[in-house]
Amino acid sequence: MITRTEPLCQEQTGQSESWQQALANVIREPRELFELLALDLTQLPAALSAASEFPLMVPRSFVARMEPANWHDPLLQQVLPLGEELGFQPGFSHDPLAEADNNPQPGLIHKYHGRVLLIVSGGCAINCRYCFRRHFPYQANNPSRAQWQQTLDYIASDASISEVILSGGDPLVASDRFLAELVSNIAQIPHVKRLRIHSRLPVVIPQRITDDCLRWLSDSRLQSIMVIHCNHANELDASVQAALAKLTAAGVTLLNQSVLLAGVNDNEAALTTLSETLLEQGVLPYYLHLLDKVQGAAHYEVDESRAKQLVRHLMAHLPGYLVPKLVREDSNQVSKVPISVLL
Ligand SMILES: *Cc1c(COP(=O)(O)O)cnc(C)c1O
Ligand code: SF4
Repeated sequence: MITRTEPLCQEQTGQSESWQQALANVIREPRELFELLALDLTQLPAALSAASEFPLMVPRSFVARMEPANWHDPLLQQVLPLGEELGFQPGFSHDPLAEADNNPQPGLIHKYHGRVLLIVSGGCAINCRYCFRRHFPYQANNPSRAQWQQTLDYIASDASISEVILSGGDPLVASDRFLAELVSNIAQIPHVKRLRIHSRLPVVIPQRITDDCLRWLSDSRLQSIMVIHCNHANELDASVQAALAKLTAAGVTLLNQSVLLAGVNDNEAALTTLSETLLEQGVLPYYLHLLDKVQGAAHYEVDESRAKQLVRHLMAHLPGYLVPKLVREDSNQVSKVPISVLL
């Protein structure tokens, strides 16, 4: 077990288990989730069917931030398997981002100029029901040691690559030992300037931000940016705040991306409070994504005109730096596609 050296964090959260234990102890049984939250068991059969297509997985500390007996809890709504996922949904596909076409070798996606995305781990600590990951063939993207060398060679051979993005799945599911070595190898490539990490772990298992993690981040010559993924202010409790404060102190620039999700954050108050709470915890809003049209996620869709209206509201009520960019992902474009919200 990892010894915690930060008394503040323990006092605030009562967490004494390591992140590895928290990951091993995630809730996977719908019945257990229903019982912990005192939810009406009539919905359990539907949850069990949906979970047989894409399993339920949610860390206990994330469940602890939910309100018992509330179906509409915005955190529960992100992880609860529902019968609505099961029918065929026209216009919703299995690979909406066409990632399969931009995969020059296992574990590497080079779609945008100047940055490559590495699939460091197919696993996550949470299964978000709206995620394209529910269908992505991660088994084929689990590189061996020799393949990692090919990935490094690919980056080294293209001087236009100035930023390497560690993604997944969730890259922080990998061990600090593995990540420290990977980052040190990346840092040996002179034209790479920045390391970016896309992870939901600082939010869902905040004890993942260990001293070892902070060490490989701050010891590297690479400038580091972490893009966390938080959809609702209720996710940002004191334990998350403590983890984010450590990252900030280690010199990591913190940004957030959210997905606009019906029943989770598709209202003015939720988005305003999210931006303000993020800033209080040292994080700037980066992207607000329209939902990727993935089979099984149609019930989360917010139509584009409502999305624009919501962002116009944020623009009229918040400083510019607290307004995330509304974007859509389109596999044929050279970047995320910004959506003009002006009338
Ligand atoms: C989203 C994404 C990036 C990063 O895009 P930014 O606009 O720089 O955040 C890079 N590569 C791939 C394949 C992506 O999907
Ligand atoms: S990749 Fe991100 S959005 Fe998808 S399941 Fe993992 S944590 Fe959730």
